[in-house]
Amino acid sequence: MADEFPAPDRTIWRNGEFVPWEQATVHILAQSLQRGTLAFDYMSVHETDRGPAILRLPEHIERLIRTCELAGLPLDYSKAALIEACAETVRRNPGARSVKISALIASIEVELIPQDPTISVFVAAYDSATDIIARHESPFPMPEHVSLKIERDISNRRHDIIAPQMKVAANYTSPMIAKWRARREGFDDVLLLTEGGHVAEAPTSNLFIVTAAGELVTPPAEQVLLGITRASVIELAAALAVPCHERDLTVDDVFGANEAFLTATSVGVWPVVRVDDVILSNGEPGPVTRQLRDKLRKISRGEDPDFTHWLHYL
Ligand code: PMP
Repeated sequence: MADEFPAPDRTIWRNGEFVPWEQATVHILAQSLQRGTLAFDYMSVHETDRGPAILRLPEHIERLIRTCELAGLPLDYSKAALIEACAETVRRNPGARSVKISALIASIEVELIPQDPTISVFVAAYDSATDIIARHESPFPMPEHVSLKIERDISNRRHDIIAPQMKVAANYTSPMIAKWRARREGFDDVLLLTEGGHVAEAPTSNLFIVTAAGELVTPPAEQVLLGITRASVIELAAALAVPCHERDLTVDDVFGANEAFLTATSVGVWPVVRVDDVILSNGEPGPVTRQLRDKLRKISRGEDPDFTHWLHYL
């Protein structure tokens, strides 16, 4: 930890008021910290001709609300209030590229079931490169193309214990173990399998492949977190007349793919060029991957009139 760096000069929304970055804390015994019940969502902010805009803000807030419903967390804010909280936090934090909204039980509890289930909401808007990554001693540079290790450890499969559609902290523990191991082995990321051995997703992104027949395929909704970027790519495929299907994928389907890419708010469309020891699309992003990546980038900059409704201008 690089303690010599002062805290970022940013202000964080906490239950309707703004507090300095370093004051946006919870107690060590907070229920959500101890039990992994924090629900969250993550959005990206883009520079456009009309100023900064948040990509697909209502969809992210709807997913947070859905996570809380699925987890039984009594979130007491309306969708409109949370949208405005995110917009105002970005307005007050110039240069922010990311927005993270967290809903958690801050109460100190003894039992698993909290006596005080009040949900606290925090919204942080920041530039991850300067406000976070640069403050650590050995930043991991984000590669332009990704190599994936297939996680074959059956104790590390996408389980049914917590539905993958719930974006809660506890759902990231086994993916983190798998990804950390993959990193140590020289891969950028890891591909998680379902309990049945089909391909699911990476820890924080969804997978698409382009088959030899030229169709785009992504694993079914029940097996993955419903990524907003995944939904965007499915919609863009239709707009670009690329056939796209949701269906079970085997590891061999991925090895035999013409192209593959990951999708997430943090990375957009991220080309996969290696899976285990298999090189895909000659180690370069394939044509369908590039077409979708470039289209999404253009939309994010507000340069595609057909999709400006995906941007929430501030
Ligand atoms: N899967 C998981 C498990 C994730 O955490 C994320 C990141 N939110 C994604 C997929 C990609 O989702 P999105 O496109 O909404 O960022």
